Amino acid sequence: MSFSPELLKGQKALVTGGSSGIGEAIARALAAAGASVAVNYHSGDQEAQKIVEDIKAGGAEAIAIGADVSKEDEVKAMFGQMLKEFGTIDILVNNAGLQKDSAFTDMTLDHWNLVIGVNLTGQFLCAREAAKEFMRRGVQPHISAAAGKIICMSSVHEVIPWAGHVNYAASKGGINMMMRSIAQELAPQRIRVNSIAPGAIKTPINTSAWNTPEAEAKLLKLIPYGRIGVVEDIAKTAVWLASDDSDYVCGETMFVDGGMTLYPGFATGG
Ligand code: NAD
Repeated sequence: MSFSPELLKGQKALVTGGSSGIGEAIARALAAAGASVAVNYHSGDQEAQKIVEDIKAGGAEAIAIGADVSKEDEVKAMFGQMLKEFGTIDILVNNAGLQKDSAFTDMTLDHWNLVIGVNLTGQFLCAREAAKEFMRRGVQPHISAAAGKIICMSSVHEVIPWAGHVNYAASKGGINMMMRSIAQELAPQRIRVNSIAPGAIKTPINTSAWNTPEAEAKLLKLIPYGRIGVVEDIAKTAVWLASDDSDYVCGETMFVDGGMTLYPGFATGG
């Protein structure tokens, strides 16, 4: 991935769940595009430090901040540290997420609450803190046309029902209306809120879906474009949504899915 370091020059970004997979790629891409990046981690302390060192070696500013995004006090402390070290925030990438899969009748309340807590409540808590700072500071025209940008990591499962993953699909469906409602409320303040809905992207969250030839062949049947996605597909979209190149995009979900939401089962007439 190569970007002009002028694209996000002077902007301060926070990427939640930034120590692996899609979040890591986004953190690296935002830095390559000139942003200073805070890499939030929950369990991946050493991985986050390594990403920070790599980003610094490339000439950009970076810090790692540990926090569980589902805990209000930890989110507030994370934003406190971000503002102390970087002075402000211009870009929030609400990426942290997890799965706890089971048949519906076996799904425990703990697993329901955990997935909703991280994937949906976590995005609410982080978006609220970011929005407060965007509104306090307002637009700085030499930095960006917007007062701030929030990118919510959704999934094709905000629209495709997913048996065996009811908690996950419900969390992503919730992100759709949360994102659009925040976007509607904050657009007059020049704050842009959008989502990315990835299809199948090779990361640690879904290894078993692609790490054997049989699994890969089965998965490819769901992807009209004929390849499984890579983290760079999502990172490039995130950089675009964070930049002024997308300045008139507000309250949208970008499906980056190789056509997975085109209902490929109907390609031959259903
Ligand atoms: P991943 O497991 O590599 O990344 C998830 C990250 O979230 C990890 O770094 C993890 O430590 C972090 N995290 C988990 N709980 C946390 C918490 N309480 N607080 C802070 N961080 C926490 O998997 P990924 O595929 O990179 O997933 C990133 C996002 O992309 C998730 O929201 C996921 O739902 C979404 N997504 C992924 C795919 C895919 O195919 N990989 C498809 C659609 C959506």
